[in-house]
Amino acid sequence: MTTLDTLGTKLLVGGELVTDVGNTCDVVDPSTGQVVRSLPLGGLTQLDSALAAARRAFDDGCWSELSVDQRARVLLRLAELIDAHSADFTRFVETEVGTCRRVAGPAQVRRPMGHYRDLVSRAHSELGRSLPRLPGPPATGQRVVREPWGVVAAITPWNAPHLLNLWKVAPALVTGNTMVLKPAPEAPSCALLLGELAVEAGVPPGVLNVVTGGADVGQAMVADPRVDMVAFTGSSAVGRAIAQQAGATLKHLLLELGGKSALLALPDADVASLVAATLRFVTLAGQGCGLLTRILVPDTLHDSVVEGLVEALRHVRVGPADDPETVMGPVISAAARDRIEAIVSRAVAAGARIAYGGGRPDGVPAGGFYLEPTVLTEVDNDMEVAREEIFGPVVVVIRYSGDPEEGIRLANDNPYGLVGAIWTADTDLGLRLARRIRAGQVRVNATASGNEAPFGGYKQSGVGREVGREGLLEYTTVKYVAWQIPSGDERSTADRSEV
Ligand code: NAD
Repeated sequence: MTTLDTLGTKLLVGGELVTDVGNTCDVVDPSTGQVVRSLPLGGLTQLDSALAAARRAFDDGCWSELSVDQRARVLLRLAELIDAHSADFTRFVETEVGTCRRVAGPAQVRRPMGHYRDLVSRAHSELGRSLPRLPGPPATGQRVVREPWGVVAAITPWNAPHLLNLWKVAPALVTGNTMVLKPAPEAPSCALLLGELAVEAGVPPGVLNVVTGGADVGQAMVADPRVDMVAFTGSSAVGRAIAQQAGATLKHLLLELGGKSALLALPDADVASLVAATLRFVTLAGQGCGLLTRILVPDTLHDSVVEGLVEALRHVRVGPADDPETVMGPVISAAARDRIEAIVSRAVAAGARIAYGGGRPDGVPAGGFYLEPTVLTEVDNDMEVAREEIFGPVVVVIRYSGDPEEGIRLANDNPYGLVGAIWTADTDLGLRLARRIRAGQVRVNATASGNEAPFGGYKQSGVGREVGREGLLEYTTVKYVAWQIPSGDERSTADRSEV
């Protein structure tokens, strides 16, 4: 066994790295359909020990009572170790999710370290603020402080495992919480390696725990009274179940759920850049929650947009994740491929037309779970394929009159509200319309976003935000402290850093 084969193989429970848990689970490489790793599969026993350790570590103050600077130092040490293991995390993302190499390293491994460092460094300035002194007499000082919730149960999906683990671990730990992290069984190695590196970085025992397991372990985390907050990323269906279950013990919830995001093109939109923006639906083989998969196009632009898309897709190479030429990898499993094909078939039966793709590509490794990128036209906004999240490489093109009011109505007429985009030559109009789209992020002719950009949804796309100031504060609750100022004490309330 090489060193690489021993990395990302251990659960972390109360500071101990554990391999012998009685069960194992096979991890399949979607590019080949072959088992690539057999990892310890935790269960309720490991979870119980992990929750006890997280509770103890929080209650004894070994972490929450450190200064932000002390916690940040440990987390920045962890960041250096994560950076040093970039190649290992990239390999796990490639082989367990099927994310192609040109996306896995830059977007799934290196980019989230920008978010991580932003979250850790901004904690210095966000966790307390002074209010004006009340003159009295007697004079009263007042401050608002942000404190950790306690024990966080973090549950993550398989599609962007490393990024989503980091989006939770950095803000939860820097604000003083302790955590039990459960990754999805399809792609657990990134979380396991993160736990191993946390030990090396000096994260105290119990502060971060990593357990594996499926829905049963997730359900037990949500129900457990030792947990104060649930940070969940996954499907809206599971998000709804979690909200119900967590209601019994009134836990604080952060829910990052599904999407069916609309790109609204106005009649003056630049077709070339619109096509380039739409083409991003092939990222992660369409398995990204925030991808723009519902394209609302005015009649006047419809044919040129569809022709542009079809021409561009001819150059999208579908293949195994580790091939540097691959632009789109496989989907996660045979079951996912079957489900996506069934949705496309039902759309065609309902009147949609396949303008590109719709089948399985040639020239890819046998056994892998490949699909062609697919463009559907003649789609009505009420059809299943326009309303439901497909989580596969399928984009729908929906015609409308070109009237911005109709476009906004169609964009909002959907159960989800994660991301939106407006393409127009009139930036002022685009910005005005952006305020009317019911989604957590809206882009006007733009695709980039900064490290501090909060991410999260309206409607069935979730509750709360990750990343940036808003993402940090989700992991804190608010305490107001007031005190009678002793006579002669002229210090400003801002100087009372002990509060
Ligand atoms: P999923 O909801 O099936 O599973 C997510 C996680 O929840 C896994 O770890 C799973 O084991 C666990 N789980 C399953 N049932 C549970 C239950 N009843 N109680 C507690 N935990 C349970 O999602 P998935 O298939 O892994 O991921 C795809 C979904 O994630 C898509 O809907 C996608 O849009 C969403 N997603 C959202 C975001 C976002 O930031 N909004 C980001 C990535 C993915």
